[in-house]
Amino acid sequence: MRPPQRCQVQLVEKIEHNAKFIQYYFEYQQPATAEFDAGQYASLQVSERGDRRSYSICSTPDKTHGFELLVDISPGGVGSQFLSKLEYGQTVHALVPLGVFTLSHDPSEEALVFVATGSGIAPFRSMIQHLLQTEHSTIPIYLHWGMRFADDLFWLEEWQQLADAFPNFHFHPVISKPDPNWTLCQGRVTDCLSVHEMPVNAGYYLCGNKPMIVDTMALLQTKGVTPEHIHHEKFY
Ligand SMILES: Cc1cc2nc3c(=O)[nH]c(=O)nc-3n(C[C@H](O)[C@H](O)[C@H](O)COP(=O)(O)OP(=O)(O)OC[C@H]3O[C@@H](n4cnc5c(N)ncnc54)[C@H](O)[C@@H]3O)c2cc1C
Repeated sequence: MRPPQRCQVQLVEKIEHNAKFIQYYFEYQQPATAEFDAGQYASLQVSERGDRRSYSICSTPDKTHGFELLVDISPGGVGSQFLSKLEYGQTVHALVPLGVFTLSHDPSEEALVFVATGSGIAPFRSMIQHLLQTEHSTIPIYLHWGMRFADDLFWLEEWQQLADAFPNFHFHPVISKPDPNWTLCQGRVTDCLSVHEMPVNAGYYLCGNKPMIVDTMALLQTKGVTPEHIHHEKFY
């Protein structure tokens, strides 16, 4: 693992997907580039007094001049407030890269299953794009993404384009409070997971809130998936 570097980064692009989720593109100023592995995160200084918050990098490791983050600003704390107000051109102190939630590349795994809730999708965008577009992986890859409302979803076109281009990639959004027009999986992400393929010889990657991680780990254990094949990152 690379040691984390102290960096100064500048906000160059900001996409407000909806009232809750904002995507940020930061470019390195000092140093000019930095490397990371798909799944790792950045720690940003979010106040004058030095408070820090962690955000998974959602861009791919081949982009070394900057990184993208996907932030759920609804918790409304110091990190959410700082990032909501951040404007183009402003600089931020960051520590990059951090974390060990990375692809294990275990040759015994015959498939990879990614399970996210909310902003937990962020590291999976980096990991899945890296697997498919950079490593040209042909292993079956399943992505289950739980969200409360369909209107909160974003990146749908991106996931659909990946599914069209790579037949080994399967995308399953799950909505817990659907409106009547929603025709795909409904309920909790674990409900959707149980009705789809859950190969025992797969690597499972879980990211998001605590109840989802606890429930999914319990479900995987009942299916006979052993702990070394279950990787998780908690956003709390
Ligand atoms: C390794 C790691 C990676 C992370 N990656 C991301 C990421 O890619 N995108 C992202 O949006 N967040 C991510 N988080 C969560 C993020 O670091 C903050 O904890 C979160 O954004 C809340 O920060 P805040 O300062 O706004 O709220 P805080 O001041 O920390 O908390 C305000 C209130 O919100 C509650 N709260 C705290 N965190 C959450 C949460 N995640 N969801 C709902 N309620 C919460 C608290 O209990 C408190 O009541 C990650 C966390 C970790 C540990």
